Amino acid sequence: MKKKIKVIFQILFVLTILLLFFSMNYIIEKPYKHISVNSEESSNTDDSSNEENKEKSYIKWVEFNITFEALDKAAKLDISSHVNNEEVKLNWIEILAYISTKYGGDFKKYKTKDVDELVEKLRNGDTIENLTKDMKNYSYFYESIEAVLGQYIGDYSIEEENENGEKSFVQKYGIKVFSPIAKGYSYNHYDDFGASRSYGYKRIHLGHDIMGSIGTPIIAVESGIVEVAGWNQYGGWRIGIRSFDRKRYYYYAHLRKDHPFAKDLYEGKTVEAGDVIGYLGMTGYSAKENVNNIDVPHLHFGIQLIFDESQKEGTNQIWIDLYNITKFLSKNKSEVYLKYPDTKDYERKINTIDGNNWD
Ligand SMILES: [Zn+2]
Repeated sequence: MKKKIKVIFQILFVLTILLLFFSMNYIIEKPYKHISVNSEESSNTDDSSNEENKEKSYIKWVEFNITFEALDKAAKLDISSHVNNEEVKLNWIEILAYISTKYGGDFKKYKTKDVDELVEKLRNGDTIENLTKDMKNYSYFYESIEAVLGQYIGDYSIEEENENGEKSFVQKYGIKVFSPIAKGYSYNHYDDFGASRSYGYKRIHLGHDIMGSIGTPIIAVESGIVEVAGWNQYGGWRIGIRSFDRKRYYYYAHLRKDHPFAKDLYEGKTVEAGDVIGYLGMTGYSAKENVNNIDVPHLHFGIQLIFDESQKEGTNQIWIDLYNITKFLSKNKSEVYLKYPDTKDYERKINTIDGNNWD
């Protein structure tokens, strides 16, 4: 009798192992399901342009679902290891890519213990290269997370005043991106990515709506170059800013009727993270310019990832869920003041310079 039970347990054990093996395979395959090699140029039969014919391989899809809790923990570890000049400098992108790979991109599995264990190994001298050498999807997760968060933490300088009232720039290490909503202005938001919209034609919501008061100063999240500043049938008055590495396109829409943009904002201008760029409103859903046709005043905030310039327009666009990112960005808000009362234009109070701009 006892032998029989033992055999049954052995069979159950083998079945469980098999089940685990197949489910792991499924999970690990998942992030790759949208990645395919671009073969648009394969129809070109000119033999002399073989070099150009080489198929380009780049990331075709990113689902950003790292929780605020995980972002916050990894960011704190990275920053404190640098600020305290610890022997082992931690890199939050590596930490997040490691746990993303471990979870197959599913952050419902997130446990702080997993981060703690990784950090302990790194502090004991193990390297991320060694720890990830057998994780075949690590490079995919690293590249996609780096594309989103790569410029969020690092060196920057901030203007500080000494006791004599003299201002000078001080070098710091930390979060160098800002909340799109200025400091002291209230807002509310919920995870609305992918919800359906019905204006014009049926399409899904590819951004994040932040409900606030009309006139709330809108802040540049990351430094970059203003690519568009004008009217669009859906977005109304909107601003598009491209990051310096060209991988991120920040989109701020439904800006204020009659006064959508900050003073001196123009296409081609370089803006610093933390600058006032415009004002919250309810324009859009109108072919006619400067029309309020949005029911609830809000900022439509979007981030598009661009791994290859062909992804900028058309049907291959990658927009990411910004709910957790917006929560993370609220840790760093830009303080503003009414600098030009006659035109009701605001400006930031404290200047910062992104480390990237240094020569
Ligand atoms: Zn929206």
